[in-house]
Amino acid sequence: MAHADQGTLMPTYARLPVTFTHGEGCSLWDTDGRRYLDAVSGIAVCSLGHARREVAEALAEQALSLVHTSNLYQIEHQQALSNKLCQLSGMEKVFFANSGAEANEAAIKVARLYGHNKGIEAPVVLVMEHSFHGRTMATLSATGNVKVQQGFGPLLAGFERVAYGNSAAAEKVLAENPNVVAILVEPVQGEGGVNIPSADYLSTLRALCDQYDCLLMVDEIQTGMCRTGQWFGFQHSNIQPDVMTLAKALGNGVPIGACLAGGKAADVFGPGNHGSTFGGNPLSCRAALAVVDVMEKENLAQAAADMGEYFMTQFSQQLAHLQAKGVVTDIRAKGLMVAVQLDRDCSALVAQALEHGVLINVTAGNVIRLLPPLVLTIAEADQIIEAVTTLVNKLVGEAA
Ligand SMILES: *Cc1c(COP(=O)(O)O)cnc(C)c1O
Repeated sequence: MAHADQGTLMPTYARLPVTFTHGEGCSLWDTDGRRYLDAVSGIAVCSLGHARREVAEALAEQALSLVHTSNLYQIEHQQALSNKLCQLSGMEKVFFANSGAEANEAAIKVARLYGHNKGIEAPVVLVMEHSFHGRTMATLSATGNVKVQQGFGPLLAGFERVAYGNSAAAEKVLAENPNVVAILVEPVQGEGGVNIPSADYLSTLRALCDQYDCLLMVDEIQTGMCRTGQWFGFQHSNIQPDVMTLAKALGNGVPIGACLAGGKAADVFGPGNHGSTFGGNPLSCRAALAVVDVMEKENLAQAAADMGEYFMTQFSQQLAHLQAKGVVTDIRAKGLMVAVQLDRDCSALVAQALEHGVLINVTAGNVIRLLPPLVLTIAEADQIIEAVTTLVNKLVGEAA
């Protein structure tokens, strides 16, 4: 499918030729009035669905009262949100930013300052292959994808990289390099292909960080806010990280990011160490407070866990014949991060699904990734499953 002309916009995105005018729940409508079922949620952002009333009302009320003051002053809703996020996560301190990359920038700065405070002049953060942490210079340097980095060197120094899911490889670096001050890791890799590590991975990294006096920093920008079936992905393991970053679903589409710290990272930042003009403004904090409230009232972590199981069961049955043939090489899910992996490139399915009235995503070339709103119904799940199954069968049939 041809990509739409983008006129005066920098062509940094390969956009599909569709424009949405409005949404409701898991549905979106385009300029021709055609309805689509959304299994992407703006990349794990609109977890409460589109045009969610509680969020819209909080925004409207706040916009009519106060949008922005400054972090020069106290901000009531920022304090309330910080308290709530700490209560849910067991973290102790929060810095608010406006995006995921910015939240990770804060985390990387915490790690470096933690190192400098103990006399390490050139601190190193251990990062993973196939990771994604953002597109700013520090976060693209941390990202384990050469396509993201190509053409933007020199990259930021101070990162070492090992295979994801391999705690022995991480241990080797920690044992050999005394400059490592932190491990930055996604509980489940999103952009990298919905990679789910073994159940003891994070707890092993936690023990290593304790042994070598490093910070365990979890990038929960995609896995956080109930997506994986817990409030935060690390809560599937019996551990507490030192740093956690959030963004994406935190504002259900209103830009807000957060870097949370606890334990030995809680008091690293002091006055003047970091800042953001917009970070934690009353408007975005009101949106996030509304999001947390709905997630809590509707127990969306449990909903994500149950619905993820449903996708697994249905795909395992309906794609069994293709799994037997080795065409479908894996079906996996952690809550509503759902993946169907093929033995071949399947990027073409995105445009075909769109024509079918369903929004899906393909990542890492051969992984169909589904990130539907956490509020979807069984009927909506069935519609997504039917579309994916039909299109995969067609793709395979045409190739045969
Ligand atoms: C999306 C994402 C980011 C980057 O967030 P932005 O808001 O686009 O800057 C970082 N880490 C992970 C795991 C993500 O999924």
